[in-house]
Amino acid sequence: MKQQVALVTGGASGIGRALAQALTSRGHVVVVADVDGIAARTTAAELSETAAGAGGATGITLDVTDRPAFRDAVDQVVATHGRLDLLFNNAGIGVGGLVDELDDEHWDRCLAVNLHGVVHGVQAAVPAMTRQGSGHIVNTASMAGLMTTPMMLPYTTSKHAVVALSRALRSELKPVGVGVTAVCPAFIATPLLDNLNPGMAPTAATSGVRQLAATLQPRGLPGPEPLADAVLHGVAKNKPLVVFPREQWAVVAAQRWLPTVVHAAVDQQVRRYRARRAG
Ligand code: NAD
Repeated sequence: MKQQVALVTGGASGIGRALAQALTSRGHVVVVADVDGIAARTTAAELSETAAGAGGATGITLDVTDRPAFRDAVDQVVATHGRLDLLFNNAGIGVGGLVDELDDEHWDRCLAVNLHGVVHGVQAAVPAMTRQGSGHIVNTASMAGLMTTPMMLPYTTSKHAVVALSRALRSELKPVGVGVTAVCPAFIATPLLDNLNPGMAPTAATSGVRQLAATLQPRGLPGPEPLADAVLHGVAKNKPLVVFPREQWAVVAAQRWLPTVVHAAVDQQVRRYRARRAG
């Protein structure tokens, strides 16, 4: 693949960092964008040291909830590098708890970052990619964007919306040569799991998410690096959806064809959560 210019939001940690690393190791040019600008610049410097070929990374501060700032960031990438080939709308936060535990801030911040952040990225990148007649937008959703996922209503709402947005946007942009992929990972071992409801009121889910992850994925959680490889493979093949790990497709199929079985298991998780909260 010829050298690409990529912008990765939430690129200073976890899945975003792994995506940026996978891109620089293939010789691409990467802009690591994160609300934590210091971490973005540190990450970029580290990735540049090991980058292949003429690729490399630079770090910028970007809060994806800031629409004008996202437009400026994309304009800056195009002004500096002449184009934007790949946009990874990856920044996100985890928010968990039962509906009666969640306050306005849980809802507003989760939708602002996980949904509106993606919308802002799409609005910023589409004009440049349409002008180019090429490009690819990759939106990090979640298995919670495909499955019935109680105990994290704002999160599952935001991720279902990202999947829907990605599918419809893909149809719209196909005629102009721009691809769109939604990424739906199961639980991945990243700092997000230890930082649920960041800066917001804790809930019983704040400390229970690792336990839930271990119950749902008893063989352990994959790291972000194999996910990043799967995402880049999916982009190269212009896949509409990347589900990771692949065996999670069986879970998606079960929800469709055996809904009563899936819902019985989901209801049991809610009963356990309520019991833990009460005790
Ligand atoms: P992470 O916490 O390791 O990294 C998220 C990064 O996003 C951090 O660097 C953070 O500073 C940045 N960020 C947060 N708010 C931001 C904002 N407003 N603007 C810009 N950057 C911001 O988390 P992760 O696990 O790598 O998550 C990345 C994406 O993957 C998220 O969209 C998340 O919902 C999704 N996801 C994660 C998992 C998982 O189990 N870890 C599973 C499915 C989907």
